[in-house]
Amino acid sequence: MTVVQRQRSSNVEVRNLIAAAIDGANDELRRINLEIWNNPEVMFEEVKACKLITDWLEARGWAVERGVYGIKTAFEARFSVRPGGRTQVDALPEIGHACGHNLIATSSLASAVGVSAAMTSLNLPGTVVLMGTPAEETGGGKYIMANNGAWKDCDACIMTHGMPQFSTPVCITKASWKFRAKFHGKASHAAAAPWNGRNACDAIVMAYNGIGLLRQQISKSDSIQGVILSAGKAPNIIPDFSEGSFSLRSNNAPELELLRKRIIPVFEGAAATTGCTVELFWDALYEDVVTNMTLAERYRQYMITELGMRPEDMVPLDVAAIKYEQNGSSDMGNCTYITPGIQAMFRIDAQDMPHTPLFQKASGTDFSHAEALRAGKANAFIGIDVLIDDAFYGDVHAEWKDAMQKAGRL
Ligand SMILES: [Zn+2]
Ligand SMILES: [Zn+2]
Repeated sequence: MTVVQRQRSSNVEVRNLIAAAIDGANDELRRINLEIWNNPEVMFEEVKACKLITDWLEARGWAVERGVYGIKTAFEARFSVRPGGRTQVDALPEIGHACGHNLIATSSLASAVGVSAAMTSLNLPGTVVLMGTPAEETGGGKYIMANNGAWKDCDACIMTHGMPQFSTPVCITKASWKFRAKFHGKASHAAAAPWNGRNACDAIVMAYNGIGLLRQQISKSDSIQGVILSAGKAPNIIPDFSEGSFSLRSNNAPELELLRKRIIPVFEGAAATTGCTVELFWDALYEDVVTNMTLAERYRQYMITELGMRPEDMVPLDVAAIKYEQNGSSDMGNCTYITPGIQAMFRIDAQDMPHTPLFQKASGTDFSHAEALRAGKANAFIGIDVLIDDAFYGDVHAEWKDAMQKAGRL
């Protein structure tokens, strides 16, 4: 058994051991990848994928709990050979399928295989946790799980996502929050007794127009979208009910909260003017991904020095932050407000963006599988460094603390 030198990053033997463990599991990982890809499951119904992954982990000696943190298809799998040490959420597979999430699961499993092999071989203290987090696309799985206490005892969280055209550990997403508005009025004959009615159609039209006016005075990086879903049934009846669905986006969670504070009075004002009442139903909040640059830089270095990426395909972090900015959102952001983390993106051979048939097709190829494994190896390398390299982890945590203080979270 090798003696672990604490306070040092992993050496080449450790990384070789991790890579060999992942390569050794390749056939099984390919089988799992394809099985999920061939059996897409929608949000909160990821039953087959959940069973497939948790059974596999259990057979490899992981302690698995299913149906955790308020979601039936969520799971938490823990691996530890010695007590103490740091707890690292090495991977967060989203086991939905709409945008190549079979690859996320594969890459996360690869990473888990690598880290657990190194922990066993080196008799390392610490815990690696693999979280199954369903319903990323619309249900906000991680928002629900975080509200129920997930990630509280974790020191770092790591995951990946496939992308067309580029690979980078820097993930720039927006914070977003969807909500539904329901106005309640009073029905009446529109011609015979309009004075007895309270018009819910007017209320939602007014709110919609109010948003249009508010848009002129919001930050360029903020956006508000909305649709009216229902606003009455016939012109001769004053509508007593109307409903709309809306979405807010900002650069980050604190700015989003400011925008939310400005949108609420628009709805209250529309209700007051029309004599209606309004209810707002807030869905899952997707916070922006706060990329931990210390973790990200080490991931980038390992990709270049150990895993065969060309430097021009793994550009410096500041360049990537500008070049690869995404307007989308990911519930991984919520985790990065609880503990330091990254969501690395790896290139797959897709000719189109996520949520398209071409991307879906590319998610099943051998090329994409190999890239998922390469990302999994890089995450396993930095994962083991989180466990054994005190100075490195000190920098990771100091950066995160600083970011959270700036965001008003600490
Ligand atoms: Zn996705
Ligand atoms: Zn998606």
